[in-house]
Amino acid sequence: MMARRLPLVALLALVALGPRLLPEFYVTLFNYIGLYGLVALGLVLLTGIGGMTSFGQGAFVGLGAYATAYLTTVHGLSPWATLFIGLAVTGATALLLGAMTLRLSGHYLPLGTIAWGISLYYLFGNLDALGGHTGITGIPAVSLFGLSLESGRDFGYLIWAITLAALWATQNLLASRQGRAIRALKGGSLMAESMGVDIARTKIIAFLIAALLASLSGWLYAHLQRFVNPTPFSLHHGIEYLFMAVVGGAASLWGALLGAGVITLLNEWLKDLLPKLLGASGNFEMIVFGVMMVLLLQYAPNGLWPLLARRLPAPRREIAVSDAQPLTQRDKPASGTTLLEVKAAVKRFGGLVAVNDMSLTVKAGEILALLGPNGAGKSTMFNLVSGVAPPTSGTVHFLDRRIDGLDPRRIAKLGMSRSFQHVRLLREMSVLENVAIGAHLRGAAGVLSSSLHLERGEEARLLAEAARQVQRVGLGEHLHDAAGSLPLGKQRILEIARALCADPCLLLLDEPAAGLRYLEKQALAELLRKLCGEGLGILLVEHDMDFVMGLVHRVVVMDFGEKIAEGLPDEIQRNPAVREAYLGGVE
Ligand code: ADP
Ligand code: MG
Repeated sequence: MMARRLPLVALLALVALGPRLLPEFYVTLFNYIGLYGLVALGLVLLTGIGGMTSFGQGAFVGLGAYATAYLTTVHGLSPWATLFIGLAVTGATALLLGAMTLRLSGHYLPLGTIAWGISLYYLFGNLDALGGHTGITGIPAVSLFGLSLESGRDFGYLIWAITLAALWATQNLLASRQGRAIRALKGGSLMAESMGVDIARTKIIAFLIAALLASLSGWLYAHLQRFVNPTPFSLHHGIEYLFMAVVGGAASLWGALLGAGVITLLNEWLKDLLPKLLGASGNFEMIVFGVMMVLLLQYAPNGLWPLLARRLPAPRREIAVSDAQPLTQRDKPASGTTLLEVKAAVKRFGGLVAVNDMSLTVKAGEILALLGPNGAGKSTMFNLVSGVAPPTSGTVHFLDRRIDGLDPRRIAKLGMSRSFQHVRLLREMSVLENVAIGAHLRGAAGVLSSSLHLERGEEARLLAEAARQVQRVGLGEHLHDAAGSLPLGKQRILEIARALCADPCLLLLDEPAAGLRYLEKQALAELLRKLCGEGLGILLVEHDMDFVMGLVHRVVVMDFGEKIAEGLPDEIQRNPAVREAYLGGVE
């Protein structure tokens, strides 16, 4: 226990004693590490974890710094008031920029951040009110409890108190329901969306938090230096922040502080050492940095923190699961009630008619198989029903509500839950946490209460529910294993547990038996039998005829987008059109 907390204990000791014991030069460096670490922390959240690359954080630091510099010197406001004004200005700017750029995909998002990084930088330099390129001097010191924090030694305590608080809060956030949504942004958006996560909103949240942390750092910077000019807020520094996040470990919060420390110290030492070694003056450190970056990306793409963390005697982290009071469940329709009714659905992709005049129903307590050779249009049907792609014409009703045209989140909320043909798991996350994403809509805690860890009660109930679903599908022994370490058969079962965690009355499964071995298929069939016995309706999309025959109640067969047969399993097996489709068709 103690050993795992070694980094924290060491850092706390340094924060407590450093400003008193270190020489002036190192106190200054240590303060800068705290300031930069704060920005890098936001970038780890945004880029390392959320997968959105930003080169423009320097501009947000500048907004925080200039807001306080201007308002304290020109308007005589107190630094504590300007802190909140700066955060508000930054927040509003980030919301605006985020709304414009976060929708961009691929390389366009980083290019967008470069664009506003540059334009804000020039704004600082060209506004006369902000002192142009010479900047603003005479920024007052911050006082706290009547104590003026004029020296770097004193102000350092405030810097590090804020940085450590931010580390604590972001750690809390990541371990929460909202944090699981953020962690799903990179590589799990479609899955998360179908579990009810509002992806667009979650992206904005991550972006906003990163911008606010940068702004906070800018406020601290202005009152440490007591002077600001545009230089530290340039694109160049935006890139350096990104270096810090990547060098430390883009996906670990501690990596942000490590990266800030390593880059800041190296920068100073190299600046000092290289000209002496080379006997000439110049910015040699930048060249060395460039080379080091390339090597690092080559040999330690996850940054330095994972290398360090591996040396700490850390037992695997197990999230405690309590037997908290169960979550409320939705009222389930009685067995035999019609859950899903698709009527005359058509889906065209340009000239291709992928689904043509398809109708089917699924009742509570029944398994319906939608069968057909590859390319028949099964997945397209699945997407029509789950809201991923609305039908061109026709209707879909779920529990007597018309749902065609609703987005997947709304449909999920009504009690329909799905798995994916190609498993979509967050491989590094534990089985428990993956399943807990399924319960997203059953919690309500927001970002603030999660960051302050005030949602303990709700979080315990969500995790207890997730653990219960993991037990229910028989994966109990794997609760704390990384999802990616399970064999495919168990990953598919995990997806079912995640779907169950949403407390659905209808389960949609897209080829759950694909790629499974015989015994895995047996286990899956056993589970599905049990679930429908508990009153769940299941729509099973499958092309493996043998798998469904002993298992399902009714079968609908489609080929080339159309229904070619419907009936009981043994009728279907004897049906000549079906045999033709399977033997003479694509398969
Ligand atoms: P199945 O799941 O039965 O194997 P699909 O529903 O995936 O079949 O595909 C049915 C047909 O629709 C195929 O010819 C496929 O190429 C086409 N199709 C599926 N999705 C799209 C899409 N987004 N755009 C264009 N064509 C598509
Ligand atoms: Mg398919």
